[in-house]
Amino acid sequence: MADLIDPFGRKVEYLRLSVTDRCDFRCFYCIPKGFKEFTESENRLALEEHVRLIRLFGELGVDKIRLTGGEPLVRQDIVEMVRRIGALPGISDLSMSTNASRLAGCARELKEAGIGRINVSLDSLNPELFRRITRGNLDRVIEGLMAARDADIHPVKINMVVMKDLNLGEVGDMVDFCIANRFTLRFIETMPVGAGGQKARDSYVSLDEVRRTLEKRFEFEPSRMKGAGPAKYLRVKGERLKIGFITPMSRHFCESCNRVRLSSEGTLYLCLGQQDKLELRPLLRQGATDPELKAAIIEAIARKPEKHEFNTRPDQIVRVMSMTGG
Ligand code: SAM
Ligand code: SF4
Repeated sequence: MADLIDPFGRKVEYLRLSVTDRCDFRCFYCIPKGFKEFTESENRLALEEHVRLIRLFGELGVDKIRLTGGEPLVRQDIVEMVRRIGALPGISDLSMSTNASRLAGCARELKEAGIGRINVSLDSLNPELFRRITRGNLDRVIEGLMAARDADIHPVKINMVVMKDLNLGEVGDMVDFCIANRFTLRFIETMPVGAGGQKARDSYVSLDEVRRTLEKRFEFEPSRMKGAGPAKYLRVKGERLKIGFITPMSRHFCESCNRVRLSSEGTLYLCLGQQDKLELRPLLRQGATDPELKAAIIEAIARKPEKHEFNTRPDQIVRVMSMTGG
C-alpha cells in the first residue's frame, strides 16, 4: 500500500468528506443567512463517485474518514453512504460531524451502518441565543444528542465554537451539561472563512481566555484522548469529563496536520486555510482509471501547503466552511 507523504514529512491518513454543502441551519460564522451560492446539482458527486474516491484513498493509506458538510443528515441516502463507506477495506474509523437536528430519527441506523463516533455542534444551551447563532431549534438538537447516547454511539463529542459577547459566558454551563450527560466537550476558536469570515473574526476570542474563565470554577489536570487530532485535552478534576481545546488561531497545529478535505463536488482541498486544490470530478467524469486517479492524488499531496495563513491573510479563504468540510 502506498503512503501519502507530503513535502514536510507528514503522513496523510485522514480524509474529511463534505457530503453536501447544504444545511438546515445558518450559523452566522459558517453559512450566513441569505447565502445562495450552493453547488449546482449536476456538479454534486453521486454516491458511487464518492465511494469510488474513498476506496482509492483507502488504497493509498487513508484509514480515517469523517463525514461532514454542510449537514450530512440532510442527504436522503446518508445511511446507505455510511454503510458503503464503512464496508470498504482499510477504513477503520468512520465518524460524522452533525448539527444533530435530524439525528433523533436515525442515530440507531447510523450506528448499525457503521458510524463509530459523532461530533455535534452545540454553541449554546439557551434556546434564544442558540437560534440567534444558528437559526435552528435547540430542542431537536438535544433530542438528537440523547438519541446518539441511547444508541451507544461513543464518544459523543460536543463542539462549541466560543464567541465573545455571545456564548463566552456560557462555557461553565456547557461543562456542567457535559458532565451530567457524559459527553466529551471541545471548545473551538472561530476561523475567518468564507462569507461568514468577517463576523467570525469580529467574535473571535482566544481559548486562553476560556480556560481562565473556567479555572475560576473548575480544577483541571492534563489528559489524553485517543484520536485527539488537533485538540489539547484537560480533565476536570474528580470528574470523567475531558475537555479539548482547538486553537487554530492562537496556537496552530499545522506541523502535525494529517488530513485533507474532499468537497461534495469532488474538489480535494489540501489545507483548510489555503486555496491549493485538485479537481477530481472532471477526471472521474472523463473516464480516468483507478491508477490515473491515484497518481493525481499523490501528485496533489506533494503540493500540500505547510500551514494556514488565517492570521496573516485572513481574507484569503472565500469558500464557505460547509463546502470545504469543516
Ligand atoms: N453541520 C455539521 C456541524 O455543524 O457540526 C458539520 C459541518 S460544520 C462546518 C463542522 C464544524 O465546523 C462545526 O463544529 C462548526 O461549528 C465548525 N465551524 C464552521 N464554521 C466555522 C468557523 N468560521 N470557525 C470555526 N469553526 C467553524
Ligand atoms: Fe450548518 Fe454546521 Fe455550518 Fe452550522 S456549522 S451552518 S450546522 S454546516
